[in-house]
Amino acid sequence: MESIGHFINGTRVPGGSGRTAEVFNPATGEVQAQVALASRDEVDDAIARAAAAQPAWGATNPQKRARVMMAFVGLLNRDMDRLAEALSREHGKTIPDAKGDIQRGLEVVEFCIGAPHLLKGEFTDSAGPGIDMYSMRQPLGVVAGITPFNFPAMIPMWQFAPALACGNAFVLKPSERDPSVPMMLAELLVEAGLPKGVLQVVNGDKEAVDALLDNPTVQAVGFVGSTPIAQYIYERATANGKRAQCFGGAKNHMIVMPDADLDQAADALIGAGYGAAGERCMAISVAVPVGEETADRLVEKLIPRIEKLKVAPYTAGNDVDYGPVITAAAKQNIERLVQSGLDAGAELAVDGRGFSLQGYENGFFVGPHLFDRVTKDMEIYKKEIFGPVLSTVRAQSYEEALGLAMDHEYGNGTAIFTRDGDAARDFANRINIGMVGINVPIPVPLAYHTFGGWKRSGFGDLNQHGPDSFRFYTRTKTVTARWPSGIKEGGEFSIPVME
Ligand code: NAD
Repeated sequence: MESIGHFINGTRVPGGSGRTAEVFNPATGEVQAQVALASRDEVDDAIARAAAAQPAWGATNPQKRARVMMAFVGLLNRDMDRLAEALSREHGKTIPDAKGDIQRGLEVVEFCIGAPHLLKGEFTDSAGPGIDMYSMRQPLGVVAGITPFNFPAMIPMWQFAPALACGNAFVLKPSERDPSVPMMLAELLVEAGLPKGVLQVVNGDKEAVDALLDNPTVQAVGFVGSTPIAQYIYERATANGKRAQCFGGAKNHMIVMPDADLDQAADALIGAGYGAAGERCMAISVAVPVGEETADRLVEKLIPRIEKLKVAPYTAGNDVDYGPVITAAAKQNIERLVQSGLDAGAELAVDGRGFSLQGYENGFFVGPHLFDRVTKDMEIYKKEIFGPVLSTVRAQSYEEALGLAMDHEYGNGTAIFTRDGDAARDFANRINIGMVGINVPIPVPLAYHTFGGWKRSGFGDLNQHGPDSFRFYTRTKTVTARWPSGIKEGGEFSIPVME
């Protein structure tokens, strides 16, 4: 069986802790690899080696760093099929979806090719007599990233591409559920010309994460995953004096106004609700039709579309709609939440329970579910299910629909479907959620904008990718320089004021 170790100083090394975790093929339920779980000492060693490699990388001019990113983009395109296959085999998502995962990461790498421009500082000529003032953006040193299972290519790239382009060294701790693609990305970066040791990959669990959070050399931590862990990491990292940005879970509402094109809205809900088996932080998990008639018509349009979904392994062709969920435990959690919805009195309009696929009986497949008449007090409404389960909450007015999304503890993404520009504008202005779609169900901003949720979906000040990432991974130094013009006036004893 394959053993996955760590990626240290430009090469794969076996784990030395004696602890490992199983990596499954979620379609078959079989264990396909063992991944090493790093000890605290192994993480500290990876950080020390990254610290040794960073000064030379930080002193490399930004244009040369950008050229490494450029070469990396070429290699990602060259190896797209191989990467997508490895990703689908461990995660379970379809091949087109796996390619989307890689592509959305690649686009952030492309953005980072603009590092020479993005790192330009500010300059004030003649701030005072003979005085110039300038600000520079300097790398932080060694920074770390901890990433979730659901985007094993995209999210590591969202973190390490800007960090590296800014001149930092990066220690990545990917999800132990699907560690292969992050290791392959690290190899490709070395092939692209990244000096050895500038990107280290340590596989592991809580022990490795805590080592990153406690090591004083690590200057900043980026995290993406579930909300309780995001909060824990934010609190521990900042208590240890580190900069931190931690992104958590979601419960994304899609408001469907009575004037919306309901066929378009239903199609959008199918893709956004069930794509990737609902395992996306930007998945729509709550549909909020406004008015009983809208709700009846929407549910009527959703049911046949959901019943037609092809749930199968990624190997079953390009017409597969979604594959298995990540683990048996994830499947059980979804099944428990579905039962809690039924117990609480929600109507199961499409019942995906007991789904089984011939030849894949041990795979972690979950049939599609649609709940109708879900209410605010139900556990299926309050919690992130992270599975192919869409809940319909019927609202009687626009204000009630808006209030539902506003009152929910999560604030990652949301959408409104309407033909009314006034309603759409009002929604975008008033909603307390970080990413908003208008007739767009999954409004993931492109690489040159930034990505981040509000409320309990995000902890920290700056968003991921786009201009914010260049702020997060650098610190500003401001120099005030005086070159006396020859007139010597002696010492100054009051605070200097520019005249
Ligand atoms: P998770 O929180 O279980 O794990 C994320 C990372 O944290 C992994 O690397 C894991 O090894 C580590 N980890 C887990 N438990 C830990 C602990 N007790 N102490 C320290 N580290 C720990 O999340 P997941 O199941 O991998 O991913 C799914 C979650 O991520 C969902 O909640 C989803 O909404 C969220 N997510 C959010 C975004 C976003 O941008 N907001 C994007 C993708 C996923």
